[in-house]
Amino acid sequence: MLDYLHALDLFTPEQRQIQQEARRLLESEALPHVREWWEAGTFPRHLIPRFGEMGFLGANLPEQYGCAGIDNVAYGLVMYELERIDSGLRSFVSVQGALCMYPIFAYGSEAQKRHYLPRMASGQLIGCFGLTEPEGGSDPGAMKTRARRDGRDWVLSGTKMWITNGTIAHVAVIWAREEESGVVRGFLVPTDAPGFTAREVPHKMSLRASVTSELVLDEVRVPEEARLPGAEGLRAPLSCLTQARYGIAWGALGALEAVYEEAVEFARSRITFGRPIAGRQLVQAKLADMLTDHTAGLLLAWRLGRLKDEGALHFAQVSMAKRHNVRAALKAARAAREILGASGITLEYHAIRHMLNLETVDTYEGTYDIHTLILGREITGLGALE
Ligand SMILES: Cc1cc2nc3c(=O)[nH]c(=O)nc-3n(C[C@H](O)[C@H](O)[C@H](O)COP(=O)(O)OP(=O)(O)OC[C@H]3O[C@@H](n4cnc5c(N)ncnc54)[C@H](O)[C@@H]3O)c2cc1C
Repeated sequence: MLDYLHALDLFTPEQRQIQQEARRLLESEALPHVREWWEAGTFPRHLIPRFGEMGFLGANLPEQYGCAGIDNVAYGLVMYELERIDSGLRSFVSVQGALCMYPIFAYGSEAQKRHYLPRMASGQLIGCFGLTEPEGGSDPGAMKTRARRDGRDWVLSGTKMWITNGTIAHVAVIWAREEESGVVRGFLVPTDAPGFTAREVPHKMSLRASVTSELVLDEVRVPEEARLPGAEGLRAPLSCLTQARYGIAWGALGALEAVYEEAVEFARSRITFGRPIAGRQLVQAKLADMLTDHTAGLLLAWRLGRLKDEGALHFAQVSMAKRHNVRAALKAARAAREILGASGITLEYHAIRHMLNLETVDTYEGTYDIHTLILGREITGLGALE
């Protein structure tokens, strides 16, 4: 693992072992094929049971529900290794664990936890998280999806957009506003329920090895037992986003490592004007920026993990790390692509695939600018967001 400032000395032997095992699996079963998956625009579903066996799914949730129960630094390292291969793989695991299993764990009934969590940890059941709507994702409070009470049932209607795993999910965590009270509530909706349809978003030029979908709910009826009883108000889905953003702050550094290593290797062997381009100041400046950003980002992520384990993590700290680390990885991928010259525009190299993926990662789970405004509010006490 790229580790310029010996950050690994801060990690426990167990955390390092988890990172190494994840790297071994992904290098043998994913890396050799990722280019084909990305080019074909397919998500490698056959890896889902492998991710389950490895304990990647909901890895930081407790063992009593069939999860690996690892600490948050180890969990972050798994995200790092997944995204070192492709942001699409990390996105699948983030959605399954942080956006679907976490809300069931945090807000679900005991019966919901016992039913869903072990099956989702093994990969037998796949989840998706429906918050964003076609009219915009940055302002989830403006959601139009409605939940109407009808006896002991709820009837859901609305459209969700840009939903990862939508067409392959068995269960959708749907956030909707209760018609009468206006309170935001979460529901576990089976994707084979009458009135539920999912359609894949075509023509993506980013996150191609990941399923992205539109969900339409047309008077979908679910029983009261499908509601997450502990989720009341927008705070519930936002807390799930904090979990996912935490993983993204680690994951982006994996992508940064991949493009940095590729750029260094290429620069050493590429000769122009009789000398390797690695010996040129302009190239070295780009590499120095990449390594510095990775080093700073890794320390940031590690500290975040420790705070999360202590239960002392604030969402704005997660915003800082998501914003910084993802933008650093995106800048590094663009610089790596530049160092590779014309070769950098082909999928023979990883840089452009990571670069295009990171455009999504920079946008989803709160755009760079939205996290800027969250931090701005923390600093000044004045909200520029709403
Ligand atoms: C591949 C992919 C997968 C995704 N997966 C999921 C998923 O599984 N579940 C889910 O619910 N969502 C998902 N999303 C949606 C994602 O979270 C949203 O795209 C994101 O929140 C931004 O919303 P938007 O695209 O509607 O942009 P908008 O909210 O319309 O924003 C457009 C632009 O305006 C800027 N902007 C917005 N408000 C302000 C403001 N107040 N001040 C200044 N600038 C502002 C933004 O920064 C952005 O640049 C996914 C998106 C993608 C691309």
